[in-house]
Amino acid sequence: MGRVIAVANQKGGVGKTTTTVNLAAALAEEGEKVLVVDFDPQGNATSGLGFVRGSVEQGVYHCLIDKVSLRELTQLTVLPTLWLVPSTADLAGAEVELVGTERREWQLHDSLAEVRSRYDYILIDCPPSLGLLTLNALVAADGVLVPMQCEYFALEGLSYLLSTLDKVRAVWNPNLELEGILLTMVDTRTSLMQQVESEVRGHFGPKVYKTLVPRNIRLSEAPSHGLPILKYDPASRGSYAYGQLAKEVLSHKHAALSASSQPSVQGAP
Ligand code: ADP
Ligand code: MG
Repeated sequence: MGRVIAVANQKGGVGKTTTTVNLAAALAEEGEKVLVVDFDPQGNATSGLGFVRGSVEQGVYHCLIDKVSLRELTQLTVLPTLWLVPSTADLAGAEVELVGTERREWQLHDSLAEVRSRYDYILIDCPPSLGLLTLNALVAADGVLVPMQCEYFALEGLSYLLSTLDKVRAVWNPNLELEGILLTMVDTRTSLMQQVESEVRGHFGPKVYKTLVPRNIRLSEAPSHGLPILKYDPASRGSYAYGQLAKEVLSHKHAALSASSQPSVQGAP
């Protein structure tokens, strides 16, 4: 079963889309079968993976509202094991349109059920809010990956997000894990950065990825070429960082697998 990871933070501009696209590509480069679901009406992951907004006729909106199957909506990208369910502008209306729907928080979860077994990872690029779209992503997810920028108020925003995760666990998805916290746009020269980093690591310990994503102009250029960084500039620091992050994400999976294959203390029933 593919692991579903929601890339979420209610703040905009913290690196959600950059992380979704480039982590997905780096996982695919490692041989994993990866699906990106662009769940942001702005569609930055869609264009960042080479699809021209406006020429995409159907996207995840049509799955949520018109019950088109995700399989029909899935497109292959420039990498042979990386697929995309694109976003279209009408996704902006989905939150309102879903309000009257039964099981409105479960729509994405239910749609993913038929495709989960085809992938190793499914990454959901969330919009910058904690509305019904993000809630659908959190209900569908096994884990939440939180990109954050090292700045003074970052921890405050994080505590609000974490209390939302608690609420989601209590009501809809008790197994939702904090996949990890990723420090993005890191400029190691500043002492503020170092202060925030040590504070975040002090708070969240091993949940904070060892990989730091540096501020790297090549990462911001790549989307306008419709390419993940490992295709646009594989030698860049940004490409190296997302490659390292993919290895960390994979090592967590392997650690979980070997833990679950340990003999149980009580013995088999
Ligand atoms: P979000 O999806 O959280 O709104 P984005 O991933 O779109 O954030 O990033 C916001 C902006 O910052 C984009 O223009 C993106 O290209 C740029 N950006 C993201 N990560 C980096 C980075 N590590 N270095 C330089 N620019 C970055
Ligand atoms: Mg985004």
